[in-house]
Amino acid sequence: MDVNLTELEKRFLSELEVIESIGALELLEADYLGKKWKLKAILWGIKDMSIEEKKQIGVKANELKNSFTDFLVSKKEALKKALIEKRVQEESIDVTLSYSSKMRGHKHPISHTTELLEDIFISLGFKIEDGPQIEDERHNFDMLNIPDNHPARDVWDTFWISDEINNHKNPGEKLLLRTHTSPVQIRTMLSQDLPIKVIVPWRVFRYEQEDARHTCNFYQLEGLVVGEGVTFWDLKWTLDTVMKELLGKKTELRFRPSIFPFTEPSAEVDVSCQICGGTGRVWDRRCSMCSGTGWVELLGAGMVHPKVLEGCGIDPMKYSGFAFGMGIDRIAAQRFWVSSSRMFYQSKLKMNEQF
Ligand SMILES: [Zn+2]
Repeated sequence: MDVNLTELEKRFLSELEVIESIGALELLEADYLGKKWKLKAILWGIKDMSIEEKKQIGVKANELKNSFTDFLVSKKEALKKALIEKRVQEESIDVTLSYSSKMRGHKHPISHTTELLEDIFISLGFKIEDGPQIEDERHNFDMLNIPDNHPARDVWDTFWISDEINNHKNPGEKLLLRTHTSPVQIRTMLSQDLPIKVIVPWRVFRYEQEDARHTCNFYQLEGLVVGEGVTFWDLKWTLDTVMKELLGKKTELRFRPSIFPFTEPSAEVDVSCQICGGTGRVWDRRCSMCSGTGWVELLGAGMVHPKVLEGCGIDPMKYSGFAFGMGIDRIAAQRFWVSSSRMFYQSKLKMNEQF
């Protein structure tokens, strides 16, 4: 019987050696140690032996069973390791592989300009806020002192969301693509404690006739400062500092009186045109960016209207604030000397690859 056990061990080891998959290993395990295991068959044959012989064979058979189990476990580990190594080999990426640098992407001039503006404002202590691009009429118009039928609404040609596709419409609520980033001013004043010092960059929409300075989708950066003792001087200093940092120390700002429903007093702010250097002419032709005036209107600004503060629960007798909104597209056009901000949206590689 000793011989049979030795033979069995030999056969097991030779079969184990040629196994190359986990599946085949499991079959071998079932064959030797399963219900009909070969070792068990041998043990059946010892029933006619003496008790002493039975004991001896039994002990040896048990040792062999443990030994088989150990061999199977190590083989399984080895097969798993080999499988992982094979997969790593097959799925590895050669990071040293060379590629054409022409295929390398880069930031769009508008993203680049936005990030630069954010950095400048953050260095002046501003926080960045964000809000929904699909806005309701209350935040986009009403709470900014532009009630329904107010003539100022005509200034903002608006994309309204039709009732058929507005599934979440609350009774009486009209939704629209936000025409400016100003609704985020309202959301900020309603939700945050004073003092407030925030900028709101990103996308807005107008139903515009497109030309060199107007597109129906463009990018704005809104600023809002509210607290005790905030003055128009603070507004002028902030905008002057930011524009000189952004466009160069020689950049000049021009404040013109204007009217906005949500600020009082209000101003349009122009910067000296970077394309023509303020001369109004490029070579022998009229500069299309500034229409030959030497100035580009980049901002609307003013002191926050007392009614807007009041509507947000802020006492206008105690607190004051300033707000401004600038077109990131126009600033990007000035920085990169692009004569028409509409070109940023035309996806022309010839133009985009210059930056
Ligand atoms: Zn110009």
